[in-house]
Amino acid sequence: MKALVIEDTVTSAALVCQQLGKMGFEVEHARDGEAGIAAFKSRKPDLVLLDIIMPGIDGFEVARRIRQLERNAEWTPIIFLSARTSDADLEKGIEAGGDDYLVKPVSEMVLRAKIRAMQRIAQMRYSLLVLTRKLDEANRELKRLSAVDGLTSIANRRSFDDALAKEWRRAARNEASLALLLVDVDFFKQFNDNYGHQLGDECLKAVARTLDAQLRRPGDLVARFGGEEFVVLLPQTDSAGAERVADSLRVAIEQLGITHGHSQAGDVVTVSIGLAAARPARDASGPDALVDGADRALYGAKRQGRNRVCNSGMVAAGVQAEHASALDH
Ligand code: GH3
Ligand code: MG
Ligand code: MG
Ligand code: MG
Repeated sequence: MKALVIEDTVTSAALVCQQLGKMGFEVEHARDGEAGIAAFKSRKPDLVLLDIIMPGIDGFEVARRIRQLERNAEWTPIIFLSARTSDADLEKGIEAGGDDYLVKPVSEMVLRAKIRAMQRIAQMRYSLLVLTRKLDEANRELKRLSAVDGLTSIANRRSFDDALAKEWRRAARNEASLALLLVDVDFFKQFNDNYGHQLGDECLKAVARTLDAQLRRPGDLVARFGGEEFVVLLPQTDSAGAERVADSLRVAIEQLGITHGHSQAGDVVTVSIGLAAARPARDASGPDALVDGADRALYGAKRQGRNRVCNSGMVAAGVQAEHASALDH
C-alpha cells in the first residue's frame, strides 16, 4: 500500500510519515500542492493525506484536481490534515472531494482507526466494481442469447423481426430494394418420423450452417423462422439477384447429401424457397407484405414439386404479388 503525504510543515510531515511507515505503508512526501499532484500522477497512491494551508495552491484545490485526475470508477481516499478544525473547513474539505479530516498533531490511534475505515470502504467499492463487471458481462451474454436460436446458433425469430423492421426503413431511406427468402425443408416430418428427432435436429443444424456459410455480403441475415423454416434477409438486392442467391442456397443444401429415403422430392434432404422483393420507398405496405409474399411463393414452390425456388414478383404498393414464376433448375 502506498501513501502520499502532501504537507509543507516538515515536523508534521515527518510525524505522519513515520506513523504511516509503522503501519506498513510505503510513504511518499510532497512539500506543496503542485509537487503533490505530480506525485499523485506518477505514484498512484492508495491513500492521500493532505494539508490545507500550503504555499501555492491550497489543499482544497489539490483535492479537487486529484478528483479530476481519477477516471470513472477510481477513488483514492483523501484525508485532510489541519491545525484548524472549523465546521466551515470540514464542509469545504468534503465538498472539494476529501473523505475525512485529521487534526494536527495527528494522534496515531485516530490515524490508524480512520485508515481502517477508509480501507473498509475501498474494499467494498472494489467488491462492488467486480460485481458490476460480472453483471455487465452477464447482461451482454443474456443479450446475445436472446438474439440467437438455441438449436442452430443462428439468429432467432426475434432478431429477424428487428432486422426486418430496420432494413425496411433503411431501404426506404436509400430507395433501395430489399429481398426476403423463406426456406422450408421438404418432407421434414418424414425425416423425423423415420430417422428420429435427434437426427432431425442435426439436419436442421447442418442446414442452418450451410445457409449461413453461403451468405457472404455484410447485412445479409439468416435466421430460424420457426420449426424447419428459415428466413434470409437480403438488403440492397432486387428480385433477380435474390433468385440467384436463393438458387445457390437450394443447390448447397442438396449438395450436403443428407440421405432422406422418405422424401418424394429426391433421395437427399432438399429445401423449397419462396422469394419476395420490394422497394420500400415506393411501397405503401409494410414489411409484413414482404413476408406474406415470400410465404405465398413458398407455397407455390411446394405445390410445383418442392426442391425449387419460386418468386412472388416485386411486391409493389399494396398490389397483389405478380404471378409466381417457378425457377427451373
Ligand atoms: P413440406 O415438404 O410440405 O414442408 O413437408 P414437411 O413434412 O417438411 O412439413 P410439416 O410442416 O408437415 O412438418 C414439419 C416438421 O418439422 C414437423 C416437425 O416434426 C419438424 N420439426 C419442427 N421443428 C423441429 C425441431 O426443432 N427439431 C426437429 N427434429 N424437428 C422439427
Ligand atoms: Mg501547511
Ligand atoms: Mg414448414
Ligand atoms: Mg417442411
